[in-house]
Amino acid sequence: MDINRVFRHIDPEAIARDTLAFVEVASETGSEGPGSAFLAGLLEREGFDVEMADVEPERPNVYARIAGSGGGPTLAFNGHTDTIPIGNSASPARDGDWIVGRGTEDMKGGLVAMVHAASALRKANVTLAGDLWLTGVIGHEAPEGKKEGPKHFIQQLRSGKIPASAIIIVEGPCAIWAASLGSAIFTIEVRDDRGPIHTIKIPYETNPAYWVGRLLTEFQVREEQFKNQPAHPLCGRQLYNVGAVHGGDYMNRLPAFFKITGTRRWTPGVSLSQIHAEFQEICNRYASQSGLRWSYFLEGEREPFETPPGHPIMQALIASAREVSGQTPEIIGMGLTGDANFYHNDARVHTAYYGPAHQTAHSDHERVSISQLAHCARVYALAAIHYCGKPGAVS
Ligand SMILES: [Zn+2]
Repeated sequence: MDINRVFRHIDPEAIARDTLAFVEVASETGSEGPGSAFLAGLLEREGFDVEMADVEPERPNVYARIAGSGGGPTLAFNGHTDTIPIGNSASPARDGDWIVGRGTEDMKGGLVAMVHAASALRKANVTLAGDLWLTGVIGHEAPEGKKEGPKHFIQQLRSGKIPASAIIIVEGPCAIWAASLGSAIFTIEVRDDRGPIHTIKIPYETNPAYWVGRLLTEFQVREEQFKNQPAHPLCGRQLYNVGAVHGGDYMNRLPAFFKITGTRRWTPGVSLSQIHAEFQEICNRYASQSGLRWSYFLEGEREPFETPPGHPIMQALIASAREVSGQTPEIIGMGLTGDANFYHNDARVHTAYYGPAHQTAHSDHERVSISQLAHCARVYALAAIHYCGKPGAVS
């Protein structure tokens, strides 16, 4: 089939107009309704049937199914309709090849490219064997977002209502992002039942501050060990980092309570239960050595994800990016975790990211290149053909 039949329906100027209009609609996390409505309107304008599924009142996810002729695998494109707070971000504008403003790169541009890809297939009368789903979710951006939208989407995947066997998230660098570290925020608390008494009565080696010092030194040693272990080929190495240490209130009163908070990141192959075991072991050991009470808890836990290069969704993306640009795309991993971590671990659906760029997201000069969005739209259209297959084709 002559792919230019499809590509001639991908119009960078139309993508630019829709992206700018989308960015002009504020949809900060928590009040994404207008953003979801814009996406739904765009899909309806292009002739697709859309379901607005209220995840919370006036905060709908958007689901559109493009039925295939049957016999092919189902692919879902996915993105989030919310943005971080607009804050001091540059106002929405067109600047040459760029659309500027909050939510351009992260990630309204990608959602527009996704719609234009599907629309180009329809205008070129390309029917796929498998179903194609175009989906937008709310509640992505932390801390306001609690992943309400991704969780609702996961329910649809698990119940078989959206029976996707692969997901492409339409944001990220212009490379196939196929792995992320797992991560969790840890808090360790140390309590001394003697309370805040005068330190003159206390030998330093029984002071909680002494033991917190030993713990921080142990993190340093563990960090050195991680550095010396072979790193994961895509997303690097495991790590510890500490963001806050609180304890004590006076120069010669015993600091009877300490709280150490930080981030622990781990590579695909290591599981959250191993991380729990690690912190439990640390607390048990320090408790028995120090005679103090040690406890920990984890928050914001994300298991790592990794989509193997041989998976059909990777093959589809690699072939598509190569056909569009003439170059073999890079396959990358990130320390950053995202919705793919959930889709992979909670819905067991292999996921990869492909987007226009990941350079200005969350900054006050967020922007996205129109030519890059057109590139993405071409890659998405081709990837849908490669993954979902053509009717009658032997897959
Ligand atoms: Zn994003």
